Amino acid sequence: MPVDLIIFDCDGVLVDSEVISCRAHADVLTRHGYPITPEQVLVRFLGVSERDARLMVEQEIGRKLPDDLEQQVNAATLRFYASDLLPITHVAAAIGAIDLPKCVASSGTPEKIRHGLSCAGLYDMLAPHIFSASQVARGKPAPDLFLFAAEHMKAAPERCLVIEDSVPGVTGAHAAGMTVLGFHGGSHCPPGHAARLRAAGAGVTFDDMRRLPELVRQVAADPELLA
Ligand SMILES: [Mg+2]
Repeated sequence: MPVDLIIFDCDGVLVDSEVISCRAHADVLTRHGYPITPEQVLVRFLGVSERDARLMVEQEIGRKLPDDLEQQVNAATLRFYASDLLPITHVAAAIGAIDLPKCVASSGTPEKIRHGLSCAGLYDMLAPHIFSASQVARGKPAPDLFLFAAEHMKAAPERCLVIEDSVPGVTGAHAAGMTVLGFHGGSHCPPGHAARLRAAGAGVTFDDMRRLPELVRQVAADPELLA
């Protein structure tokens, strides 16, 4: 399979942001009278949209949370990014070692993606090829964002290789007709995550970014690797 484009997810693939999002979420909920730790947020709300997480809490406490709760979580996340966000270990070297066109396709807002990549020192390596779910009708797990990114980068979907860390992301890339490598090395990944990514359509899973350049070469040379 010739590879013409590498599409990186952002959260959990380029930046180790899930733990920080959980801390921001816990911080805001605790402030509004629902004491919860970042670890509990991770277990209860991983892969749950912020809206659904809010409904679960509201049902439990029997009252409404503030209308702007999601904005408050977002603002707290961006504040924590500036002080604490790290790139995924070895990802900068991996990006530098892959001599192919690359882009980012993320569920975050354009501001959040830019801020995160900048804080982690990766923005200049990938800009301006950064695509946000806010540019398409349906976010992941729909294939829209991946197809949108491929079209803008002038690559055929079947020649795109996607690096994803979440089940909705793997599902969306697979639905777009792309090959997916599942990454499970982020500090948020629970046990058994690799198997979940494979079940969703990731042909190969890995947990160390130092392996990525060689995996890309292998996939390009031998598609049977993914059979
Ligand atoms: Mg992700």
